[in-house]
Amino acid sequence: MPFLKVSENLYMVGRGTWMDKGYSNGGDCNVYVIVNGSELALVDTGCGDQSNLIVKNIKEAGLDPRNISKILLTHSHSDHVGGLGWFQKKYKVKTYFHHIKKSQKKYFKTLELSNFNSKDFQTCKIDHYLKDGDFLKLGDLEIQVMELPGHTPDSIGFLFNDNKKKVLISGDIAIGDQKNMGKGYIGWFNFFWGSDAGYYISSYDRLMRQKIDINAPMHGFPQMNSKDVLLSFKNCLKRIHKLCAFPQIGATIAFKHTNITKKLEKNLFKII
Ligand SMILES: [Zn+2]
Ligand SMILES: [Zn+2]
Repeated sequence: MPFLKVSENLYMVGRGTWMDKGYSNGGDCNVYVIVNGSELALVDTGCGDQSNLIVKNIKEAGLDPRNISKILLTHSHSDHVGGLGWFQKKYKVKTYFHHIKKSQKKYFKTLELSNFNSKDFQTCKIDHYLKDGDFLKLGDLEIQVMELPGHTPDSIGFLFNDNKKKVLISGDIAIGDQKNMGKGYIGWFNFFWGSDAGYYISSYDRLMRQKIDINAPMHGFPQMNSKDVLLSFKNCLKRIHKLCAFPQIGATIAFKHTNITKKLEKNLFKII
């Protein structure tokens, strides 16, 4: 069954390779659908290869993809926004993205933050720019916008109530504790795309005060109760503090844009 019902109105319908084969193309982030009545919001779009697999999963979950009215984006990395053009062409959707992109007027190209993937991006239309504290509506469901910088400057999370549970779709800031893999996973840290340890820490400080019941990250699996969520945030914070012990390192992975040495890289992989 290539989808996961996370909570009453939240489904994971895309998931790339991460521990296993995933639910859709291997290069995809987690892709979620928030449901309210007949209206659907797609959160992130995957990498854009085999987007039809995501649609297939939406149908398998018993949902009609033609009801997707909104696309919400957590940040501009290619595994998250690569499929945006495809979904915009196929469905009548409004796209919501971080206000940092507003200076680019109507359109945006994601390349400056996502060129770890050589894939060419289509220029896509952004309809609404979001900032911290905004609410967007899916039918009568209110979804709160939280700016959560650290992984990238344009990272946002989406917070909403689902049958008395406080659910956060957190982007790549807090992948959190993952069974069989380790604790406190964070999204890749790289100066090139604007990762910032100080912002990571302040985002966790904020998140830990929110009493979140379900944390749905964009890689790995969600944490499903408030205790596990809080523990995950604490472990993420620990991990970023450990990373701070290596100020000479600009990345948790050796991209061509960084000057990481083999020795440092070895040390670093003990942390990540
Ligand atoms: Zn990312
Ligand atoms: Zn990601």
